Amino acid sequence: MRFSTFLILIITTVAGLGCSKVNVFSLDRDRELGAQVNAEILANPAEYPVLPERGNEEVYRYIRGITTTLLNSGKVKNRDEFLWEVRIINDDATLNAFATPGGYIYVYTGLIKYLDSEEQLAGVMGHEIAHADLRHSTKALTKQYGLSVLLQAATIGGGAGAGQLGEIAAGLTTLSFGRAAETEADSYSVVYMCPTSYEADGAADFFIKLNASSNGDRPPAFLSTHPNPGNRVENIQEQAKELGCSGTATNKAAYDRIKALL
Ligand SMILES: [Zn+2]
Repeated sequence: MRFSTFLILIITTVAGLGCSKVNVFSLDRDRELGAQVNAEILANPAEYPVLPERGNEEVYRYIRGITTTLLNSGKVKNRDEFLWEVRIINDDATLNAFATPGGYIYVYTGLIKYLDSEEQLAGVMGHEIAHADLRHSTKALTKQYGLSVLLQAATIGGGAGAGQLGEIAAGLTTLSFGRAAETEADSYSVVYMCPTSYEADGAADFFIKLNASSNGDRPPAFLSTHPNPGNRVENIQEQAKELGCSGTATNKAAYDRIKALL
């Protein structure tokens, strides 16, 4: 990178650091971070017991089919830029899902078993796809590390970046998003669902269920990595109304069949 280009990058970034739109990372960097986190997850079966593909072909086909439906909604900006790989984590006690930069998505069996129908899971998957598609992690990292990340981003490629990238990747699975990112991911869940046959406010049904079953002393993991921005049920339902979404599919019977396979 030429020094003048670098200087302009610093100036425009510092000027914009107060808002969440700024991202000093390139799409390549999102993809690399995701690949790195994915490698760490696959190397750590004690913490992330990935459900084997063999013997679970039907479950994987079903869950990936949901993702594909959302990716083909025409609303996912980085549909062709990111990998969109889905893995199931075989842990019934954890009610969660998460996505890395670059579109690696992980769904816990605890979440799949907890939900009642396909459009609820699609709503949550839409929420996760949104975090990756809208690049919330690298935007948050931009904010968190500010200039140091910018310097790093500029030197990566010159050979200095791999270790630092690893450090950043290590923190990504536990990175919790801010309220603005959560509201945005909820909203985009509806945007992706709306053109499909799904009832578009599926994520709202998940949060209604979550609110009803949370007893306060031990909130589900989903809420620790995806903090409640407030009014999320109302916002999701309102969004579906405003967009005039007309889908009604819940595919409950198919969902029950898949749950029974786990
Ligand atoms: Zn979230």
